[in-house]
Amino acid sequence: MFENLSDRLSGVFDRLTKQGALSEADVATALREVRVALLEADVSLPVARDFIKAVQEKATGQAVTKSVTPGQQVVKIVHDELVHVLQGDEDPGALKIDNPPAPILMVGLQGGGKTTTTAKIAKRLKERDGKKILMASLDVNRPAAMEQLAILGAQIGVDTLPIVKGEDPVAIARRAKTQASLGGYDVYMLDTAGRLSIDEELMAQVEAVRDVANPRETLLVVDGLTGQDAVTTAENFDDRIGITGVVLTRMDGDGRGGAALSMRAVTGRPIRFVGLGEKMDALETFEPDRVAGRILG
Ligand code: GDP
Repeated sequence: MFENLSDRLSGVFDRLTKQGALSEADVATALREVRVALLEADVSLPVARDFIKAVQEKATGQAVTKSVTPGQQVVKIVHDELVHVLQGDEDPGALKIDNPPAPILMVGLQGGGKTTTTAKIAKRLKERDGKKILMASLDVNRPAAMEQLAILGAQIGVDTLPIVKGEDPVAIARRAKTQASLGGYDVYMLDTAGRLSIDEELMAQVEAVRDVANPRETLLVVDGLTGQDAVTTAENFDDRIGITGVVLTRMDGDGRGGAALSMRAVTGRPIRFVGLGEKMDALETFEPDRVAGRILG
């Protein structure tokens, strides 16, 4: 994640920090290179533009060129601005799961990693927070998806709602809610069906489930490798369903990371977790400060 961007930026900043005294023109040149690096990382144009503008204003305001270590000063300003652009208002990993049983709605397109991520989050809540979790698959069109969740549940020791053939998603959501209350579960997770693209039927179905479950968290799972498409998908789901956060998957294969950098600035929704592989432990909370550190090397 971010390897390419990190390499590019370290080239720019190495030159800058070695240079000693800096003129305003030196800073402007460096920032132009940073802008190109962001765009090459597939950061959306308005986000890259605002980012550079903010850094430029701070660099001028803090009289960088007059400081003893001007290059380092610029790096610090870029770091802080990265944190700003990534930062949500809340602790990304802290899911709102008080008042049991707390419903968590998992939404996204097919193949984005929704089912895998549902199980990863359940495992995390169970192991780190000692929560009792019930998972339910609502993907009535794909029996294989329902079985996949049951298999993952057995693997991580988390209960899944028994599959009843012929039930519709809303009925499954209701049954999950009842079962979660009766069974003393802290959290129940609803793994909704995905489609290859956003369509009316998918959205109407997710909306109906949302209205029954009244979820405490609605997490959109999107494939980080799809770059700006991931951001557009998030905008669409947020407009229609209202999401509380994003999980970006396949970040183990994404050297660019543009989706991660644009997500909050474009959608206003924080990235809560990133998926870094197929294994059940390959999930990390998305911590802006650490991510900015990783990008700047
Ligand atoms: P769904 O259709 O959205 O439920 O997607 P799945 O959960 O079935 O995931 C589709 C494929 O992506 C599976 O083979 C997963 O193992 C894989 N996958 C999910 N998350 C990640 C991730 O973070 N990294 C990698 N490399 N693969 C992932």
